[in-house]
Amino acid sequence: MDLSQKDYVVILQCDIVKQRCPGYACEKALHERTGGFAPYPTEKTYRSLNITCGGCCGQATQRKLASLLKKLEKQEAITSDRVVVQLSSCITRHNHHSPPCPHLDYLRQILAGLKVDVRDDTVINKLSEERRKSGVYSGG
Ligand code: SF4
Ligand code: SF4
Repeated sequence: MDLSQKDYVVILQCDIVKQRCPGYACEKALHERTGGFAPYPTEKTYRSLNITCGGCCGQATQRKLASLLKKLEKQEAITSDRVVVQLSSCITRHNHHSPPCPHLDYLRQILAGLKVDVRDDTVINKLSEERRKSGVYSGG
């Protein structure tokens, strides 16, 4: 995936976690090009939007994202090939909130159906990474 050809980043976050988390660390990681955003070119400014999955089982992702992709194309001629979805680390990895999303495969299925490029992870917390490596967090 050539990230220099992308213009719009959609950060998909866990609806349950977002009841407590403002998502600042995800935003900071994009701004600083760290964690899951490290491969993004620093010289480029990306539009970005955070959405949640809408709650288990994540089915609302389909409606929200389909609506967004339609609006982007209709209003700004930003086609879906210029969009990338970044799955937040609270969905993809075991962290202090919980193990990874139990519906991750289903979410990936939805995203595949929308024919939009997807990448894993946003912020990579150092302590959580140590706990994953040492087996304290075992769920991915
Ligand atoms: S990855 Fe972290 S900062 Fe981002 S939404 Fe999940 S818990 Fe919040
Ligand atoms: S489907 Fe996954 S990401 Fe969405 S609320 Fe449930 S656990 Fe969180």
